[in-house]
Amino acid sequence: MIKLHDKYFKKFISEAQIQEAVARIASEIANDLKGERPIFIGILNGVFMFFSDFMKAYPFPCEMSFIKLASYHGTSSTGNIKELIGLSQDIEGRTVVVLEDIIDTGNTLEELHKIFKAKKVKQFKIGTLFFKPEAYQKQHKIDYIGMEIPNEFIVGYGLDYDELGRNLPEVYQLHTHDMINLILFGKPGAGKGTQATFLKEKYNLVHISTGDVFRYNIKNGTELGLLAKSYMDKGDLVPDEVTINMLQAEVEKNPEAKGFIFDGFPRTTAQSEALDNFLATKDWTISATIALEANDEILIQRLLERGKESGRVDDQDEDKIRNRFDEYNQKTAPLINYYKAQNKFYSVNGTGSIEEITERLSATIDQL
Ligand code: AMP
Repeated sequence: MIKLHDKYFKKFISEAQIQEAVARIASEIANDLKGERPIFIGILNGVFMFFSDFMKAYPFPCEMSFIKLASYHGTSSTGNIKELIGLSQDIEGRTVVVLEDIIDTGNTLEELHKIFKAKKVKQFKIGTLFFKPEAYQKQHKIDYIGMEIPNEFIVGYGLDYDELGRNLPEVYQLHTHDMINLILFGKPGAGKGTQATFLKEKYNLVHISTGDVFRYNIKNGTELGLLAKSYMDKGDLVPDEVTINMLQAEVEKNPEAKGFIFDGFPRTTAQSEALDNFLATKDWTISATIALEANDEILIQRLLERGKESGRVDDQDEDKIRNRFDEYNQKTAPLINYYKAQNKFYSVNGTGSIEEITERLSATIDQL
């Protein structure tokens, strides 16, 4: 694993695999163009390493040149029009092979086609070391492909992340998915908090319970606490904006976390969307939403018992508990479909001993 700027990257394609692909492209092109004296044109900057290794592997007489495509700062409002920099020789009537380090959407390729068509070359071919078929949106044929890769962000072997990483001899992939971010879902009393304390130890995660953070603020008489108290005491949800800002601040307090258990958050669609957007700014995602299921009568008994020990006002009165269930049914239950649509929803039987439930949850997490 390496770190470039703020992001981590893991090894993806070895030097040996790259060299094998380069040698194969060189021999395919040599086979097709053996009678010609082609001009190989590299698109800077990313191509420089591939181009150099390719030239060493190309066995026949050839010429070379480099170009850059710069955004054209003219009167055009599109901002997309590209201008060619660096092509000095006359290429009319010549066989031209443009070499690219990577082709993804194909936008650059499209520009190249337009530019070289106007130059009346004899033959125009395109070769790329890496190709992302899932990202490609154009019709142009790519004549030579070193390796097809999934639509992931890569660096190394000429490719950069904000100018870093070009000098790496192998290719690295953005590292995002080893982080485990879990949402423990379920009605009040389902056991989210209890289970989170076991799971956070087992999986080395940071546990954030929005209910606990609110109660901490109430205990300390903060402004946030005062605001939340009136809602909490009745069993109503605290407004989204307040809760979302608080949750984000809690996440920011843990920049080195290996992942999070969100307990009691999100509770509304707006909170789910805010969470997804917020995590995306860090290249993180939710790994799974796991619901602990138990019927209302069991939950009410558990909450009343808890209320006797903890003194929590919202756990001591059956009306308040029923109001919290109503809030859940109206505002929180729709999230089940939100996470199902992302294939991230799991449901676990939340009745039985604490250990049994931890085991069921662990089995679900381990298969992620
Ligand atoms: P809990 O400890 O998770 O049962 O939460 C206790 C109370 O805190 C809830 O009844 C709400 O009043 C408030 N609360 C906790 N989390 C949220 C949330 N995500 N959105 C709105 N209110 C919340």
